[in-house]
Amino acid sequence: MNFKNITVAGSGVLGSQIAYQTAFKGFNVTVYDINDEALERAKERIQGLKPHYQQDLGAAQDEVDQAFNRITFHSDLSKAVAEADLVIEAVPEVVQIKTDFYTKLGQVAPEKTVFATNSSTLLPSQFAAATGRPAKFLALHFANEIWKNNTAEIMKHPGTDMSVFNEVIAFAKAIGMVALPLHKEQPGYILNSLLVPLLEAAQQLLVREVADVETIDKTWMVATGAPQGPFAILDVVGINTAYNIGNAKAEATGDPEFKKIAELLKTEYIDKGKLGRATGEGFYKY
Ligand code: NAD
Repeated sequence: MNFKNITVAGSGVLGSQIAYQTAFKGFNVTVYDINDEALERAKERIQGLKPHYQQDLGAAQDEVDQAFNRITFHSDLSKAVAEADLVIEAVPEVVQIKTDFYTKLGQVAPEKTVFATNSSTLLPSQFAAATGRPAKFLALHFANEIWKNNTAEIMKHPGTDMSVFNEVIAFAKAIGMVALPLHKEQPGYILNSLLVPLLEAAQQLLVREVADVETIDKTWMVATGAPQGPFAILDVVGINTAYNIGNAKAEATGDPEFKKIAELLKTEYIDKGKLGRATGEGFYKY
């Protein structure tokens, strides 16, 4: 693996975590965002990650400080990518923003630079042409709280070069991730392809009044040995997100059952401030 200089574009929730984790593992990192204000917020956000590395990973003060010092910040895209071996894109999940970003990036980045998108719901083939270098482009998808939830789903699109795929897999391992290769494009990657149907089926059982929350979770846990059932997982995801997914599905399919699920989540949980683990109560009390 020949990557040394990594640029992270977009320094919000995920971008700041990716930048800090990569610097923590010894790479030179450049953070790119649209203006100085956004970069100031990024600095604060990244500083705020230090205590997590100390508490959760037992990192020493000088270790977390040195990691921060390996990061430089730029709002000029050409400067931000001038030395980059790899650009990891974590800009907003909006097709037009990403398309514009890749069009500019393709023009200013050195020829050698590989591009990776952290998009959760959009497929890399959608942006391959805009990059101007489809063979050097793929998806590298992280989970929130990357230092603990260290999965990296690496997904090719049909035009990705195999050597680029392998190099990004090696990079993901080098920054402490469990690398999970996907050889074909798949909306939702592996995790959400498995998880979304499970969570959906659990909510259907509930609104059909087949069984209660505890019984559904207990069935899954005892029968498969899983540490959590679907409703406990929904409490971690957050009831707002579950509601948005249910609503979107109701609109897309016209299926009244999804409408019923969304209504239940709204009246029994969201309206009562039960948003999941984050608020101390969702389907369960914490
Ligand atoms: P966010 O809104 O927290 O951050 C987006 C950042 O991009 C901001 O710093 C913003 O200033 C910057 N930005 C806006 N326009 C830009 C542009 N034209 N060029 C460069 N930067 C720009 O978003 P997020 O939650 O970090 O999500 C970013 C990406 O990561 C999305 O594709 C999302 O699907 C993916 N993702 C998010 C999560 C999550 O849990 N939040 C998990 C996995 C993947």
